[in-house]
Amino acid sequence: MIKAKTDVNDLQRKILDLKKKQNTALLVHNYQIPQIQDIGDFLGDSLGLAKTSRQLKVKAIILCGVKFMAETVKILSPDKKILLPVREAGCPLADMIEPDELMKLKSKHPDAWVVSYVNTSAEIKALSDVCCTSANAITVVRNVPVKKIIFVPDRNLGEWVKMNVPQKEIILWDGFCIVHEYFSLKDLEGARKIHPDAELIVHPECRKEILEGADSVLSTSGILKRAKESSAKKFIIGTEEGIIHRLKKDNPQKEFYSLGNAKICINMKKITLEDVYASLKEQKYNIELNVDMMNKARVALERMVKYV
Ligand code: SF4
Repeated sequence: MIKAKTDVNDLQRKILDLKKKQNTALLVHNYQIPQIQDIGDFLGDSLGLAKTSRQLKVKAIILCGVKFMAETVKILSPDKKILLPVREAGCPLADMIEPDELMKLKSKHPDAWVVSYVNTSAEIKALSDVCCTSANAITVVRNVPVKKIIFVPDRNLGEWVKMNVPQKEIILWDGFCIVHEYFSLKDLEGARKIHPDAELIVHPECRKEILEGADSVLSTSGILKRAKESSAKKFIIGTEEGIIHRLKKDNPQKEFYSLGNAKICINMKKITLEDVYASLKEQKYNIELNVDMMNKARVALERMVKYV
């Protein structure tokens, strides 16, 4: 549970009061703007938020993140009202695969299992055999009971899985995250030169050469954990820059730098404090999904636990 800071501004205070009155929780992704991170009831990665949502005894949840995250929360907590403050906050990576495209690929490889990254729409999850996160993708692929895998939609995470699970035959979808794709070798070399004593950690959505040149490759939750446990005093972080706020807050005695120029996901920054307030007041935008589709998607999400 994140404790609300005492030095909140007027709007933050209004949000905190209204959400208490309405028995609503504020779930915030690590890449959101700091002013929203600071008043979240829970701060985490997409799966952490979805898991947390199940345990909450609230009527409604405001999800500050992007659409697939709000959908994942709805799939796992179908009885709660889930609100996404900005309807257009989407994820270009999740939008890189359409259900009919996946159906076509599945029909070409009937003996393969579809392993889908949580960064996918509810429709894609419903067509998948099992979901995975960046933290558990390697373990899930290693443990599923088939040799052939269709891995969607992130090719970089898929490459990372391939490198670590060579015994499986993995068919990759050609999707990528528009933030992580643009970390370059020049960024990496430059950062090593400026901070030779720093530990360099990158997210597995980065390209292969970046993954190979890093000290470790970790999910956002893995980065947070590693920064706490490592004896290093300086870190270079190759992921969306929103996480730097949380890293600095959690480890005030350590230094954190973005790899290259700070990379920002504009979709993750679409939600403002004003939007959160309007979302509470006007109960918008309510996530509604087909029940049958949600049930199928939930099977893929719950099956993930079996293979980790
Ligand atoms: S950082 Fe990448 S994967 Fe995450 S929401 Fe933005 S585009 Fe999607």
